[in-house]
Amino acid sequence: MAYVITQNCCKDASCVPVCPVDCIRPVGGAGESTDTEMLYIDPEACIDCGACMDECPVGAVHYEDDLSPSMARFKDINATYFARHPLEPYSSAPAPKHRPVTPGRLRVAIVGAGPAACYAATELIGVDGVEVNLFERLPTPYGLVRAGVAPDHQHTKSITDVFRRAFASPRLTTHLNVDVGRDLSHADMLDHHHAVIYAVGAADSRSLGIPGEELPGSHAASDFVAWYNGHPDHTEHDFDLTHERAVIIGNGNVALDVARILLATPEQLAVTDIAHHALEALRHSAIEEVVVVGRRRLRNAAFSVGEFLALGSLDGVSVAIEGDDDLEATPHDDVETTLKLDIAREYVDRKDQGQDRRIILRFLTSPVEFVGEQHLEGLSVVRNRIGDGGGLVLGDSTTDCEILETGLVLRSIGYRGSKIDGVPWDWATGRIPNVAGRVIDDDHEPIPGVYVTGWAKRGSRGVIGTNRACAEETVTALLQDFDTGRLVGEIGSAGDLSATMGARGVDPVSWSGWHAIDARERELGAAELRPRRKLVDVEALLAAAADAMGPSGGAVSSELRGD
Ligand code: NAP
Repeated sequence: MAYVITQNCCKDASCVPVCPVDCIRPVGGAGESTDTEMLYIDPEACIDCGACMDECPVGAVHYEDDLSPSMARFKDINATYFARHPLEPYSSAPAPKHRPVTPGRLRVAIVGAGPAACYAATELIGVDGVEVNLFERLPTPYGLVRAGVAPDHQHTKSITDVFRRAFASPRLTTHLNVDVGRDLSHADMLDHHHAVIYAVGAADSRSLGIPGEELPGSHAASDFVAWYNGHPDHTEHDFDLTHERAVIIGNGNVALDVARILLATPEQLAVTDIAHHALEALRHSAIEEVVVVGRRRLRNAAFSVGEFLALGSLDGVSVAIEGDDDLEATPHDDVETTLKLDIAREYVDRKDQGQDRRIILRFLTSPVEFVGEQHLEGLSVVRNRIGDGGGLVLGDSTTDCEILETGLVLRSIGYRGSKIDGVPWDWATGRIPNVAGRVIDDDHEPIPGVYVTGWAKRGSRGVIGTNRACAEETVTALLQDFDTGRLVGEIGSAGDLSATMGARGVDPVSWSGWHAIDARERELGAAELRPRRKLVDVEALLAAAADAMGPSGGAVSSELRGD
């Protein structure tokens, strides 16, 4: 018997060091690829101790006998990984030694409060003497864990427990509701800190650049995600849910999240923390079919195995594969591609079970135009093919064109960041230019004291736990720079910073303010048998936070944090 890692593995690898027989992979040892979508447990080596299950922050590890029918397949998936990659011993490099930090000699600002920022804070607070000020534009922390993770993936949200220790530290001060770039500048950050780490994510959506993209009815999937998750900037969107068919462009995990939410029943959504306005709108949705359009073949699809498999267990929803008949794996395919192809063949062979809603995954299909006069009426797509050299050949819009009738298209083709004044920016990639987390200038030279982590550093790739290794790399660079005397400038005191914010009318929300918001949301949710009912406008969030704030606003002392 063995433990098994399942669908919502966050890949932050907290389970790896607690395994007494070292049977969880891949962890990035010599010759090991870490670009898998999840971690796996070797069933041959597992000794059933359950340490990994206890440690997993998102409840993704289960005892094999306890797997639900929809998760049973993960037993084979874990075993298949080791059939291809036999377990090799792995010894991690010893943690680098750093110069002791005298209190007051290393104060770091982190901009952002999403998982990338939280992992960076956790790393820094692990070093005695380091002080951290964390700034976030919204009155709430946790970035995409709160505003991105789909509401039907509640387990994934428990990743926030991992960060509790860092936020409880008296050396970490949280300044929510502070916009760096508007309330405080990059220069302010450097005036008051020895170093600043930008962990600002990638909030903007990429655009396709095809005609009609701005028609009402065409939206960025990121807007839809932020709307159903109650992001205060996105409550006013109006999505036309009156048509039978919706189309999603792109086939990454965001596309699958959106497809599931569009087809979920009100009863399924009503037990989640989905924003109330979205729940009410989706209650009256007429959508029965979601077409997910991918430009390449199924073997190249960006979605992960776990998410693809999970589509097959949605109540009342069938899954169809269209546009790609070549679903046989080759010896050159990696484990995860092989699994995707296996699962796709099963969907093709599956008998109709009378479901009333369907997801159609269309491959080798590219959008060429959003069609409509005043409002979207359809999406014109072309059929692509694979050329002789194996490359993708775009279909000819004069001959291979088809119109998918729909009033709602969600463009799910990835995210890009936006520039912060005073911080270098790579317009081509939509990221902050850097080498291993050190931000570089136009001459490719590291700028002393300026760092980046998360999606702003590497682009919108990877799951939540990917940010752990990313933050480790950035913080290691920062500590090396501290060790070599590169972070020694004179900086203003904590009092100076509060005075600067006070003079500008900035009203930070402290960590205890967030606790008050959290408690209020949970209380409202409990009355409706939901995990929480989110407060979705800034005024309401600030009002909920106000009870917990001292007379000095956000500058609440550590004793008052109540963690
Ligand atoms: P993604 O995985 O990068 O997928 C983007 C999709 O857009 C791909 O299918 C891509 O096709 C397509 N695309 C890009 N440009 C296009 C164009 N010009 N025309 C047509 N299609 C185009 O991005 P994402 O779905 O936004 O996810 C971002 C990250 O968050 C990913 O790492 C994802 O795994 C992660 N995430 C994870 C979960 C989860 O674990 N449950 C949930 C949500 C997000 P090509 O492949 O052909 O480029």
